[in-house]
Order: sequence, then structure tokens, then C-alpha cells
Amino acid sequence: MGYRCLSCGAARRPPSATCPDCGGYIEYAESDLKALRRAVEGDPFAALPPIHHRVSMGEGETPIVPIDPGVFDRPITGSVYAKLESLNPTLSFKDRGSALLLSAIVDESTEAEAVVVASTGNTATSVAAYAARIQCPCAVLVPESTSDRKLRHAAVHGGEVFAVDGSFSDCFRMAQQISDRRVINATAVYSANPYVASANRTVAFEIVDQLGVPDWVSVPVGAGPLLGGVFRGFLELSEAGIIERVPRMLAVQMEGCQPIVRALKANDPVEAWTEEILTGIGAIADPLIGYGEDGEHTREAVLRSGGDGVALTDEEVLDWAERLAREAGIYAEPASAAAIAGLEAIAIDSSEVGVALVTGHGLNESGDGKAAPKPIDTNSEAVYEVLL
Ligand SMILES: *Cc1c(COP(=O)(O)O)cnc(C)c1O
Ligand SMILES: [Zn+2]
Repeated sequence: MGYRCLSCGAARRPPSATCPDCGGYIEYAESDLKALRRAVEGDPFAALPPIHHRVSMGEGETPIVPIDPGVFDRPITGSVYAKLESLNPTLSFKDRGSALLLSAIVDESTEAEAVVVASTGNTATSVAAYAARIQCPCAVLVPESTSDRKLRHAAVHGGEVFAVDGSFSDCFRMAQQISDRRVINATAVYSANPYVASANRTVAFEIVDQLGVPDWVSVPVGAGPLLGGVFRGFLELSEAGIIERVPRMLAVQMEGCQPIVRALKANDPVEAWTEEILTGIGAIADPLIGYGEDGEHTREAVLRSGGDGVALTDEEVLDWAERLAREAGIYAEPASAAAIAGLEAIAIDSSEVGVALVTGHGLNESGDGKAAPKPIDTNSEAVYEVLL
């Protein structure tokens, strides 16, 4: 039991993110069968690292809801479920990792006293909120193009926000330079810290508890610690004999920045996306410049699961975000609607069950939706006219 190197298996100490011997990624793995059993029986946090003082705001244990097949354009004969990670305390799944990371800072075993985080928005908001909870100073580095609402949400919690003239990769490089033994890099990629992907394993534990093992789990992917962590969770359960198979992982990216999906299609190792970023869906637009191995780690998880990758256009994803809101009652940010669109794109068949991770809430994105109210006088007939 403990943090170990995923490549050579050696026990390793956080907050190191990579193995000093072989360079492999460090992640927590649970070897206590009882803890893993508890994790799929209502206590998903039972298989997280032991922590003296857990910093928590009720993250995780999110609902899973069916999506009516009628919402799909193409005939979908299998069953599709949405796991509403958008209902976490700061409205995205990033809270799972933030809770574990800030818990580690309170733990006496680290010397950390502050955090720095590179983010396309949601990690910034999440880390700033959890840092506020323990009065831990927090610096946030975001690309200039980041949604205004996400920035304000991070600033409300006291995060010191810096706008970087560059992509997410530039922000990440700066965060790596700034971090040292007093300042933990809270960026949500494997090579920044061992906490984030370790915490994302709980999504797998919850899905098994709520639904059993689905055939597909569809995940919007930047660098992919969500997809990788969820896959690890399923793999751990399968190696412990608690489940009989693992689901196929579907990596969903945008056509305008798809380093991982491109590599999956070409059957080549992942390389950084050095072309122009041609998508407005910022939450998953990660060119991986300087840390292509993070993307490769995600690709390996997809391959090992027997999964696939799909790249979508901005237009179809924005259309899906609107359709989910209007026809399924789910307000997802566009990057999250991409998870459902991805299941439609691969057209799962009648015997299959797909789970789409709705990673973040629409309220964190600005500028979408039509809110123009209709004029009304004292004549209530106008209301009947639009309703019936
Ligand atoms: C961070 C994020 C993702 C991408 O997850 P990674 O595992 O970091 O690649 C997807 N959707 C939303 C809404 C996010 O905030
Ligand atoms: Zn190693």
C-alpha cells in the first residue's frame, strides 16, 4: 500500500511526481483488499492515502443519471449515463484532486506552505477554494484567453491570478519553475504532482458502486490525468478480483488541438501539438509542449483498456452543450458536453452501456446561452402562448 512508481513499482514519497530512478509516474495504489471493497460499497475515499487531517467540502459521490436516447441525433441503441462531476463544490471534478493535495499540505509529512497552479480555469478555481479553506497562499497562472467567469471564481477565493501571454503549456512551465519544497505545483497533470491522478481513481470506484462495470467510459481529455486516474481505479479493482473486466476508455479531444487522439489514430507515440490551437474549447486545449510523455501515459491507458479516441468540431460540441441543457436538463460546459458527443460519435450498440463524465458545469463558462427576456404586460395570455 502506498505511493509507488507505475513503471518500476518502487515505493516513492510524495510530493515527487516522477520516479528518481526510472522517470515513471508516481501514483497511489491500494493493496488492502478490504479498503478496495469498501471503496465500491459506498465509501469511495477508503482507498485514498491515509491522511491525518482530511480537507474536504463534500467533493465526489456525484450522481449518475441516464440520458434519454431521443436526445441523440444518431440512433443510439445502447444506454448512456452522465456522471455529474459538475456538481462538485466548485463545479468540476478538479475538486477531487484539490481535496487530496491540500490535505497533503496540512499533513506534517510535507514541508509545503503554499501552492502554485497552472490552469485553463477549473483547476484554478478549485485549488483556490480548497487553499482558502486552510488559509494557504495560492498563485494561479492562466492563459490570457481563459473564461472571465472562471477567473473571477478563482479570485473570489483569494487566488492571486496571473494571466500569461501564451498557452496552458507556457503556464505549466512557469509553475514548474516556481515550485520547490515550500511551494507545491498543484497543476492537474501527472508530471506536476502524484495527488491529482490518485484522487481521480475514486470516480471509478463510484461508477462500479452505482452501475457496475460499463462498456465505455467517455472522458474529455487535455493531458488526461482524469482518464488515466479513472482507468487506474478500474485496473486496481480488476487486479484485486473485485470486478471481472475493465471498461474501454474513450478519449475525447477537439479537432483544433488533439495531440493524444491524433497519436491514437496514427498508432504513434504522443507528440506535442506545435500547430496553432484552433479550438475555442479551452478546458481541453492542451498542446502538451514540454511534457508529451503525459499524453503518452494517457494514450497507454486508452490502449490497455481496449479503448479509442475521437476528435470533435467546436460546432458539434457547442450544439451538444445546448442540447443537453435544453433536452436533458444538464448544464455542462462545452468541454464536458464533448464526453456525450464522443459516445454518439462511436455509436455504442444495443448491448452496451456508456458513461460520459460531465466534468464541469456550464455556469463556469461565460458568453453562452440566450437570456434575452420576452416583454410581458399584465396580460398573462402571452405566457400561455409560449407554453402551449
Ligand atoms: C480539466 C478538465 C478536463 C480535462 O481533464 P484532464 O484530465 O486534466 O486532461 C476536462 N473537462 C473539464 C471541464 C476540465 O476542467
Ligand atoms: Zn521507477
